[in-house]
Amino acid sequence: MKLCIDAGGTYFRYALFEGKQEISSGSDKCNGIGFIPWIEKLLQRYKDVKTIAVGYAGQVKKGIILGAPNIEVTEPNIKNYFQSRYDVEFLIQNDLSCAVLAEANYFQTGEICALYVGSGLGLGVITNGSLLKGNNALAGELGHIPYKKVPFVCGCGKDNCIELFASGSGFIKFKRYLQIDEDLTLQELRDSTLIEHTELYKEFEEALLHAVGVVITLFNPEILVLGGGIIADDETIFETVTTRYKEFSMPQSTQGLRIVKTKLQNAVLQGASLLKEDQ
Ligand SMILES: [Zn+2]
Repeated sequence: MKLCIDAGGTYFRYALFEGKQEISSGSDKCNGIGFIPWIEKLLQRYKDVKTIAVGYAGQVKKGIILGAPNIEVTEPNIKNYFQSRYDVEFLIQNDLSCAVLAEANYFQTGEICALYVGSGLGLGVITNGSLLKGNNALAGELGHIPYKKVPFVCGCGKDNCIELFASGSGFIKFKRYLQIDEDLTLQELRDSTLIEHTELYKEFEEALLHAVGVVITLFNPEILVLGGGIIADDETIFETVTTRYKEFSMPQSTQGLRIVKTKLQNAVLQGASLLKEDQ
């Protein structure tokens, strides 16, 4: 049996496979439950698990967790923890890297970027058929490229990251700072009659278009897949990207490019199921 896991900042999700057949799935809010005890409980329940494959919301290199802004890390060397205590193979990779593996498999291309806009602004890149990783497994940290200075700080410690403008968490920080009702959605701000509301929406839109243009110009993908909660919930944002991306990209990089919305229910979980030892 193979236990595939999507370890996000809000939920831990799993799907259990016997061959290609999914035999069980579930999720728990991660508040207050440790990631390792959560997996160990599943191993108690499913004694025939031979492989654990994790898409993890953090930086991971060779089975070691280097950092995770939204998950408490008690044991960085998590691969060793499980492989030394249980008779299992343990595979773990960054969540957006898993997502882009699943998207590449779905679209059958080796030149693809997955840009997910949810609580963060995440990117996974496959170029020339291989996952882009970098020296410290930090390549493609799109959310933290410098954009504009703001009077509060990002989870990474800086005060000028593009994620502060174009993500759910940044959006919340902006609303708090501007004393705008925290319950207002992006759509409500866009449709509002108050200029301070529409201005904040425009900041979001402009930053997202910049991010899209950076991805297209830097990585020259054949397919750019957009996903994440914010894209899923608001059709207008996707339409804006597909209408205006050329204003923000090098013209030659857009030739032959397709921008699509993800078709996958849970790309992170699907990508985790595709992980191999050397990834
Ligand atoms: Zn940052």
